[in-house]
Formats: sequence, C-alpha cells, structure tokens
Amino acid sequence: MAIGNMSTKKDYYEVIGIAKTASPEEIKKAFRKHARTLHPDNKDSGDEKAFKELAEAYEVLSDEKQRAAYDRYGHQGVKGSARNFDDMDMSSFAGFGMDDILEALFGQGVRGGGGFGRQAGPAQGSHLKYDLQIDFLEAVFGCEKKIEVNRLDDCTTCLGTGAAPGSAVTTCATCGGMGQVKELVNMLFVQTYQIMPCPQCRGNGKKIDKPCRDCRGEGLTRKKKDFNLPVPAGIADGSRMRVASLGDKGPHGGPFGDLFVVIHVKQHKDFIRDGSTIHVKQNISYSMAALGGDLLVPTVEGSKLLKIPAGIQSGTQLLMRDLGVPPLQGQGRRGDQIVHIAVNTPTKLSHEEKELFKQLAELNGETLSADAEQTKKLKRDAEKSDTDDAKGKSNGKKKDAPVEDGKEDSLLDKIVDAFRPKNSD
Ligand SMILES: [Zn+2]
Ligand SMILES: [Zn+2]
Repeated sequence: MAIGNMSTKKDYYEVIGIAKTASPEEIKKAFRKHARTLHPDNKDSGDEKAFKELAEAYEVLSDEKQRAAYDRYGHQGVKGSARNFDDMDMSSFAGFGMDDILEALFGQGVRGGGGFGRQAGPAQGSHLKYDLQIDFLEAVFGCEKKIEVNRLDDCTTCLGTGAAPGSAVTTCATCGGMGQVKELVNMLFVQTYQIMPCPQCRGNGKKIDKPCRDCRGEGLTRKKKDFNLPVPAGIADGSRMRVASLGDKGPHGGPFGDLFVVIHVKQHKDFIRDGSTIHVKQNISYSMAALGGDLLVPTVEGSKLLKIPAGIQSGTQLLMRDLGVPPLQGQGRRGDQIVHIAVNTPTKLSHEEKELFKQLAELNGETLSADAEQTKKLKRDAEKSDTDDAKGKSNGKKKDAPVEDGKEDSLLDKIVDAFRPKNSD
C-alpha cells in the first residue's frame, strides 16, 4: 500500500523526467512520451509498475493545486488526494485498465487508436459505463451488488448471423469473406495500401439475401444481463472498477467490450471520510468538558465508549485507533477515527442552573458585568488610541497583515473548518 511507504516514493518530477520549472505543456508532452513507452500493452518496453508511478505523478503535477502542494510539502502534501493507482487493478475486478487511465487523462479513446500496435480484426464492442451508488458503510466494509446492463449481444432470432431464418447466406464475393479490402490511396506523395471495411458486406464477410428483421441484419440486439459485482472493502468514492467482457459485443464476431463501474458513495450523517481516516464530530456538555467522563461515540462498528479527559477544550481531536476504513485489497493498516470535540455552551438555563453558574463565577472571583468605573476607563483608553492613530504611531492593529501565503485548502482543513464549533451551535 503506497500510503505506508510514502518515504520510499520517487520524486514525481524525476518520474516524468522534467525540471521543477516545467510548464504544464512540457509536463503533458513528457508524460505522453513515457506513457507510450511504458504502457503495459507495449510488448517491448511496457512496464506496468513504472506506468502506474508515471500516471500517479502526472495526476498530481498536471493539477495546479496539487502540484503547488507537492512542491511545498512533498508527498505528504498530496497524500490522500492523489489516486492510488498502485492499489488498483490488482484483481480482474478492481482497478483501472491501462487504456482507461489514458482515456481518463487524455480525454480521448486510445483503444484501437493504432498507437499501441493492436491487431486489425473484428473490432471489439464498445465499453459501457455503469454508475453504482453504494452506502457509506458498504464502501467501508465491502459488499456485493446486483448489476443489470443492457448490452449488445448476438441476436436470438438469427443467432448473430444477421440473416432471416431460413434465408441463404453466402460468402461475400467482394472481400472473399474477409470483411476487409485493401485500397490503394494517395497519401501526399506516397501511394500506400490501406485496409478498409468491405463496402459490399460492411465488414460482415457474408452476403445476406434476406436480413433478419429483429436486428435489421446487424446480428446484434440489446439484451439485459445481470451479475453480482463484489465491491471490495475500503473502496473510495469515484473509483472505477473494470469488469472484462461485460460491455457490448463487437460487430461481425468481434469480442465484447468491457464494463466500467463508477462507484458513488453516499454521504453519511455522522461520518466524513478522508482516505482511510474517518472524522466524526461530537458535542459534549460544559460539565463533561470540565469534569471529563465517558462518551458514547458512533463508529462504523457501532457506538463505542470514548474517555473524555477533564478540562478538554473545544476543537480538541481525540483518536480512536483502528476504527477507520480498512485498506483496499487488505494490504496495510486500517485507518483511524478522529473525534472532533465541540463544547456546547448552554443557551437555555433554568433558574437553578443560573444560580449555580453565578456561584461558580463568584468562586472564581469573576466579575460578569462591567461596573461604571470600568466602563469609564474603557472609554478613556479608546479615545487615547484614536489620538495615537492620528499621529501615525499606531502599531497595535494588524488586521490587514497578509495571511501566510500558500496555505493549502486541503480536504483535512475543510473538515476541520466544518467541525469548528460555531456560535449558533
Ligand atoms: Zn437477427
Ligand atoms: Zn465483403
């Protein structure tokens, strides 16, 4: 698991082979060059491990925000935000296909694009996409989901031949049954042969007297197919699982395409997930904050007791070890749960409670309301400060001081922000 050996990770700039000052264009260019060489489909120089490293490096460096975070904090800075390519594609079910990564990164199809030496022949069918919504806890612990796809498959009426039952099917005379013809074409100054689908039979290789009515001679119709998809524990929102050969069937006997299942994880009312860590907010009473005690906290394994130390402050984070998200593929350590403590200040007090708080204040020698003498003094101080301002001597006001620059809006920051106790609470 990559999270576990961050320290041994290679420098992303080295992986892509560019300078730290490289422009986005240069990064893209260098990545494309290496991707073609290292792509696992490339028989001579393919290297799946190196390709995954490359894909991960590119994903970070091609994103302005992530790159800035990486420049500043190294791998720690992008921990959790970079997709973990290493963890994917370990089994036939979980993972990014390599074509798929390129498709995702380049936004264009590469299959059969000619770049990776694919063989000509009956074309593979289309890949299909399926959006699967699962619950938060299903993502944490894994689940099995029934999926139904509506995909192209052999027509039942003509058994995929495209010919009406009982009608004659003969070999296409134009292409001799190959489904393809060579055509001499002029490309600039060179004459060259190009392989084209046979115009007579449109790649079928057969001459059909009477086309099947159900598939209009195509040999393919849409059919429902269902299957159970095992979703691994620890899967993250937005992950894609590739299921081989569950896409459309290719025309003229071509193989099935694949199915890509995109995982959408529903939000949970109690938990926020960041990688393998689960964050949970817990309000505690004023009394518990002062005295400490045992608090029942929701975890993905049900409610569990958490010791609250006496004198705890709002905003304190308490760790509940090994109650986070299990590692994908079962490798590495399980994540933790972090409990963000917010102390509730009481808003509606009974008469008795009011009296107790007053006694408490007295005990501490606290004066809760300003007396006339204090008010006067404050006023004098305020006037004095104003005259200082006029003389240009004021230096106590630093409201406009620049915020420490480069402060990244990491997910964690956002979560901490969301959990910061609000006055309206
Ligand atoms: Zn048919
Ligand atoms: Zn033909």
